[in-house]
Amino acid sequence: MADVILVLNAGSSSIKFSLFDAGSEALPLLLRGQIEGLYTTPRFAVKDASGTKIEEKDWGEAVELGHTGAVTYLVDFLQSHQEDHSLVAVGHRVVHGGVAFTRPVLVNADVTSALEKLTSLAPLHQPHNLKPIDVVAKLRPNLPQVACFDTAFHRGQPEVAQAFALPRSITELGVRRYGFHGLSYEYIASMLPQFDSMAASGRTIVAHLGNGSSMCALVNGCSVASTMGFTAVDGLPMGTRSGNLDPGVILYLMDELRMDARAIETLIYKQSGLLGVSGISSDMRTLLASEEVSARFAVDLYTYRIGRELGSLVAAAKGIDALVFTAGIGENAPAIRERVCRDAAWLGVVLDPVANQANELRISVPASKVAAWVIPTNEELMVARHTWEVCCGRATMKTIAPDIPGAST
Ligand code: ADP
Repeated sequence: MADVILVLNAGSSSIKFSLFDAGSEALPLLLRGQIEGLYTTPRFAVKDASGTKIEEKDWGEAVELGHTGAVTYLVDFLQSHQEDHSLVAVGHRVVHGGVAFTRPVLVNADVTSALEKLTSLAPLHQPHNLKPIDVVAKLRPNLPQVACFDTAFHRGQPEVAQAFALPRSITELGVRRYGFHGLSYEYIASMLPQFDSMAASGRTIVAHLGNGSSMCALVNGCSVASTMGFTAVDGLPMGTRSGNLDPGVILYLMDELRMDARAIETLIYKQSGLLGVSGISSDMRTLLASEEVSARFAVDLYTYRIGRELGSLVAAAKGIDALVFTAGIGENAPAIRERVCRDAAWLGVVLDPVANQANELRISVPASKVAAWVIPTNEELMVARHTWEVCCGRATMKTIAPDIPGAST
């Protein structure tokens, strides 16, 4: 009977899952799917590794499956459809590990209670990430569960990269830069040695450009700075998130428009970014295909902000050897990569337009001082690797940043 690892990535209205073969260290993918519309019109779909549909199910309207019903259904489905497989562990993507969780952790009651206390730092995500842990613990109390954090990879950043210039009493409450998308950056860092030894051991800026967008500076495969800070609304403009704002804007919205915290939250998380600026869509494909002036401006602002953050991250890393694009836009939008690379010509990036158009792995010309790459990310595989390592008693995550001259407190 083959051992398998289940990876869960739970959001507010959907749970994505992947099943990996734990019999080999490469952890081949077996199944991938999701249950969406948890509180509206639930729908389950699962495909095999080649993308062939295996099963679908619709619950119809007015059925509130919720996280509990969805995880229960999923565990039952795996039990009945994978009789020749034995589920040996579940890995969870958890957005926040705070300051304490610097690496993935085997879940127990103390860990769960510590993670629940971090809810105030990520109220929109943390409760949804934790709910499936609770459900699985009740269904299968002896099944090992591993929590893998979006923040952990950044914990080795120099202190100055993690601090706001606020009074110490506020910092001690946990108001500091955490950084997110860590599982994606860690996966990219793990792949670099295969493609580019200079990028792996040197200074690489990774642009994770998806619905949620951020960038991270790696030195020797470790995070030294990132664009997302206290929350995942910081940094670049995104599909519907504003990215960084002058804090004075928030005060203005409160004083002049009489907006309260919830109204501002909706504005900066759901109504801003590409959607807010264009007034058309949060989807980059729609904007790139549009002739509307506002759609072009949204794309202009997006790429301009990437260029600004790139300069800042290069300063934090004290140079750049490689630039990596990943996630939905980074992997699939040659037009955006072309603009970013053109704006980065001053750093020594020379794009190969043919390779870029073909979404090839290396998209810079051989003579380019800075190599540019397109590397598909795989956060689920990163969670599966961690789960496998933790359950086999080996944790290998690199979180200790190398010395950067002048970057200590
Ligand atoms: P998430 O943060 O939700 O995981 P993804 O990484 O899936 O997001 O990225 C979604 C984004 O990728 C959307 O803006 C979508 O328009 C964009 N995208 C996907 N394919 C393409 C494409 N071929 N050209 C341009 N943008 C694309």
